[in-house]
Amino acid sequence: MNRAFLEFLSRHLLPLANPQFRKDPIVDRWVIVSTDRAQRPFSSHGDTAPAAKTDCPFCEGNERATPTEAFALRDRQSSPNQSGWQVRVVPNKFPALAALGDANLHNEGTYDSIDGVGAHEVIVECPQHEKSLARLSHQQVSKVVTTYRERLLALKEDRRLAYGMLFKNVGEAAGASIEHCHAQLIGLPMVPVMVRDELAGAAKFLDRHQRCIFCDLLSRELAAKHRIVCTTERFIAVTPFASRFSFETWVLPRTHQSHFEDLEPADIDEFASILKAVLMKLDAGLGRPAYNYFIHTAPLNVPPQESYHWHLEILPCFSRVAGFEWGTGCYINPVPPEQAAAFLRGTEI
Ligand SMILES: [Zn+2]
Ligand SMILES: [Zn+2]
Ligand SMILES: [Zn+2]
Repeated sequence: MNRAFLEFLSRHLLPLANPQFRKDPIVDRWVIVSTDRAQRPFSSHGDTAPAAKTDCPFCEGNERATPTEAFALRDRQSSPNQSGWQVRVVPNKFPALAALGDANLHNEGTYDSIDGVGAHEVIVECPQHEKSLARLSHQQVSKVVTTYRERLLALKEDRRLAYGMLFKNVGEAAGASIEHCHAQLIGLPMVPVMVRDELAGAAKFLDRHQRCIFCDLLSRELAAKHRIVCTTERFIAVTPFASRFSFETWVLPRTHQSHFEDLEPADIDEFASILKAVLMKLDAGLGRPAYNYFIHTAPLNVPPQESYHWHLEILPCFSRVAGFEWGTGCYINPVPPEQAAAFLRGTEI
């Protein structure tokens, strides 16, 4: 990170009393302005410094370095905020949003803002200092997926929230500030624009064709086979036709389901195994690249949707998003998704 910027953050930045959502008055896009985030660890070097187990806040035994846990899968005889856990969920120490208060709307002429309230949790995915989800056991990845589901269900109880965004940043290039394997969950009082666009596109397709566009794409991809990375009985991993990034991969359930949190416990194991397999292929074939993944699911506060179909999108970071992409929203992808799928299919794990 730029040294002068770090100096600005530490010497000149005036903290806001509360975070804020601000709506761009031209396009339908919300921005979170939150000075608390400026306090989190920023690295000034190209790579994440290897944290020793002793000073990693996410390692078992260092529970006191994190806020009080919200949820944990742990040994029956162990106590909260002590060792003996397998997956642990804590509020983010540097949250983008305030946990308490109402999401009141404010208007100043053309400018709309909403109080920056919501949830921001960290899901610590293993007790030992491991960086890669792909290297965790299948049983452990199942526990991680179980926890994702549990926390989304918990967010549903918070009536202020409309959306739960579960995401993961792996590697410095993907925005990770701590290398210990973890994901994050942000509960928002509105549906983010990327999801709204997908919901709108899917609703339009249902209107015209009386079927879910994702189900339609799945059957086409299964028939054509050339963009399939791998499959299980109930899930499919595919490189999408219009992939924005090299080796972009989506994992979807084969049967229609709009909400990730409606995943049957019996399907969790199978989803964990395909997720682990895709990440292992990326790690093995492409030298453990930095990546982001996130779950696109229907909003928390709506019933099951006929038009929408949840999916997990994995976006590896091989190059930076640059001027053309920022200026146009149009991505230039150097690797045809058919070739990416063929390469990953052939990568032994
Ligand atoms: Zn650690
Ligand atoms: Zn569907
Ligand atoms: Zn999506």
